[in-house]
Amino acid sequence: GMTPVEVRHLTVRYPGQKIPVLKDVSFSIQKGENVLLVGPSGGGKSTLSLVLNGIVPHSIEAEVQGDVRINGRSLHEVEVTDICREVGILFQDPESQFCMQTVEDEIVFGLENVRFSRAEMEQRIEHSLALTGMSSRRDRFISELSGGLQQKLGLACLLALGQSLLILDEPTANLDPNGARDVIELLARLAQDP
Ligand code: ADP
Ligand code: MG
Repeated sequence: GMTPVEVRHLTVRYPGQKIPVLKDVSFSIQKGENVLLVGPSGGGKSTLSLVLNGIVPHSIEAEVQGDVRINGRSLHEVEVTDICREVGILFQDPESQFCMQTVEDEIVFGLENVRFSRAEMEQRIEHSLALTGMSSRRDRFISELSGGLQQKLGLACLLALGQSLLILDEPTANLDPNGARDVIELLARLAQDP
């Protein structure tokens, strides 16, 4: 089948930088693979994540060389909205990624951008809440949730969309040890039974 992620000779340089942040990076990711990217702070992990969903260079300016293919399509050839349909990112700061007040509204907000039917939307809300153990919190205010629960909501929003590639950029960095453990356990469960 088609390789979900194929990166060939990727070089990325931000404006004003002499040295590229990523230099001649090549790798691929197969369906069902869970890949852990480890490296020092400032090493370019977030930049690589942002390239994979097109935020770099479409929204954040950078000079990008090489070829990045998601599900066989080169990112040069597709619109950002099309990339977002296939690649979702969860960032490390839970609060900054939400737009709505309640758990349900936040999931609906993401789904409305893709225009599902009412019935399909309801089914996706229920399923994503169940997968993340958030069913009982559907009507809660996001601001009243712990950091760990907020990251679970972020994950529920991605799962509701059903994107084929999920990127988690240090999703436990801003959580306390209990919240971090909860999120890691959830990720381990999802990885086994996606
Ligand atoms: P990591 O996620 O591994 O910590 P980043 O991808 O965030 O690394 O950053 C890699 C390098 O690129 C850092 O030196 C950082 O300062 C720089 N950088 C990140 N974003 C930008 C930007 N928008 N403009 C200029 N430089 C940036
Ligand atoms: Mg980073």
